[in-house]
Amino acid sequence: MMLDYNSLLLALGVSATCLTLTALGSWLARRAETFLLTCTVGLVLVVSGIFTYVFYVEQPGRLLGAANFVLLHGGFATIWGAGYQFRTNRLPLWGIVIRAFLAMASAVPSMIVGLDGLAFMADNLAIAFLLFATARQYWLGRAEAPAPLTGITALYTLTAISFVLCAAVLISDGRLVLGAAPKNWAEDLSLAMCIAGMTGIGALSLALHQWRLAARHRIDAITDPLTGLLNRRALFDRHGTRAMGASTAVIVFDIDHFKSVNDRYGHAAGDHVLKVFAGELSANCRNGDTAARLGGEEFALVLKEIMPGRAELAAERIRKAFEDRDIYIEDEVLKCTVSVGVAPGRSKPLDFDAMLNEADKALYVAKRGGRNRVELASHLHSVPAGVVRSAS
Ligand code: GH3
Ligand code: MG
Ligand code: MG
Repeated sequence: MMLDYNSLLLALGVSATCLTLTALGSWLARRAETFLLTCTVGLVLVVSGIFTYVFYVEQPGRLLGAANFVLLHGGFATIWGAGYQFRTNRLPLWGIVIRAFLAMASAVPSMIVGLDGLAFMADNLAIAFLLFATARQYWLGRAEAPAPLTGITALYTLTAISFVLCAAVLISDGRLVLGAAPKNWAEDLSLAMCIAGMTGIGALSLALHQWRLAARHRIDAITDPLTGLLNRRALFDRHGTRAMGASTAVIVFDIDHFKSVNDRYGHAAGDHVLKVFAGELSANCRNGDTAARLGGEEFALVLKEIMPGRAELAAERIRKAFEDRDIYIEDEVLKCTVSVGVAPGRSKPLDFDAMLNEADKALYVAKRGGRNRVELASHLHSVPAGVVRSAS
């Protein structure tokens, strides 16, 4: 048995309602994803537009027709905004208002004056335009998750094309006054495409949302929340099992008398100092190097492809830069220093744990030797006089 047009329209309304509730539920579960709220608002408008259209099909009237346009155009413009927000994290409020207004301005006046044929031509083109623009947002953001985002782009594009076909049939028909809701093969096709598109976009959006959450959790699990550097676990995941050869060096840093910073200026000031040092460390990282916070006020740097004698120079550069740095705590300027232990690359490979241990021993020597200095874990490398010493 074939379903009639109105039953299919109701089916579309019901499936859009389900999608709205799912988007709302997802947003309630993770409020930070505000694009889901924008999407929910857009869907509420679209659902209201669909049900208004159900009444319009039964009993066509100018006001009902205009209300349908206002709701659908506002809804699709908001859904475009949700796509923009998904990609950029910014809500384009004015972009939504302008697009909704332009779409309404193209179709509502002719509906009000009774030219419903002309109004539906413009309405279909306006919705197609909004859907193409939405497809473009997901296409631009496809690098984040190519498969689902390309799928979403394709579904928005196909749905947009189905609205272009509706407009094309009405235009080729040429009647400016219809007196009833348009009924032709393109309308049937568009309705079927909307049901398929809505279901597919809904499923892919949720998959995408879950994928994004999982990616965020993965990043959170390896990041130190205070400094944004990798945490100890990530450092060990990256280097824990590999033997390190002559071209890899491990450096550990420990901020001097850090406890007294906390005691004198407060914990927040201590946190600020940690961030400043992390910034100094990142600024001295090349591609392939790893900077991490080991815990507390201790940090590590793993240098790859480093020439003999260079690791201690890099360590010294960071020590000096931190020593010279003015750290502003309210209206006071604070000076801090750091002690450093360097385990340079060895011709006989050592595992990461052993390298870290060596660097730690050198750090201990640096502390004992008066702090604010770089110590080297072996005699094998050249040492810049007066600055870098060698731990015995
Ligand atoms: P030394 O020169 O010998 O390294 O002395 P120190 O005071 O730097 O070292 P100590 O180990 O005695 O103190 C480290 C302090 O770091 C103690 C702890 O309260 C503080 N600390 C650890 N983690 C954090 C943090 O995330 N934020 C702040 N503000 N302080 C922290
Ligand atoms: Mg310490
Ligand atoms: Mg310390």
